[in-house]
Amino acid sequence: MKSKDIKSIAYAFISEDVNVYFPDNDEDCFIVEKLVCAACKAFWHTSLNECYFCGEINYYLYVCTSCGKKYSITNSTIKCSCKDSESKLIKACVNKECLTNTDDVLKSFSITEKGVFDLDSSQSLSQMYCIKCGSPENTYRSFKIFVFNDNEETNFKDYYLRINSYFDFGDILILKKHIDINELVYAFITELTSDLKIDQIEYKYSSMSKLIKNII
Ligand SMILES: [Zn+2]
Ligand SMILES: [Zn+2]
Ligand SMILES: [Zn+2]
Repeated sequence: MKSKDIKSIAYAFISEDVNVYFPDNDEDCFIVEKLVCAACKAFWHTSLNECYFCGEINYYLYVCTSCGKKYSITNSTIKCSCKDSESKLIKACVNKECLTNTDDVLKSFSITEKGVFDLDSSQSLSQMYCIKCGSPENTYRSFKIFVFNDNEETNFKDYYLRINSYFDFGDILILKKHIDINELVYAFITELTSDLKIDQIEYKYSSMSKLIKNII
């Protein structure tokens, strides 16, 4: 039986588009598999789009076709504050030098497609190059996720002794701390040491999804 903690955290990873496996011989962790850059090991975002013409990534913004003002809204039915009669809010490429913003033909085509990053647009691709180093090659990386819950594990030293022998380089320990019954904060560490002071850790994340976005 996997602990409830491990299971619920694993599902939080699954909902962030990460492959998760439960090893049969190990109840303290689960395995996460993610596409990474073959050169620098930065995470490769399969759901992230990039502009076909310039490689700029998708910031999920709407851009006014008249004045260039950007909006982080979830629909384009609002109007730009410039109130230009020609104004349309489209999911344009934010790179001002991009051909979809400088070449007249591509620009008007982009507008008819509601912008480079519109779901149905033909002008974007999923990520082809590493965002960090530009390498075109990716590979899978897998690592283990452990969870220390201050409600269940009373003593970090004992926990350390239990998992230390199979906590490998690249693995992650998630720390869960209860502020009160309903409020939890999270932290994660990538290096496990016997003298880790659990009460000196800075719990920076107020939700699991914020934590996961910082891990991956
Ligand atoms: Zn572009
Ligand atoms: Zn405008
Ligand atoms: Zn890279």
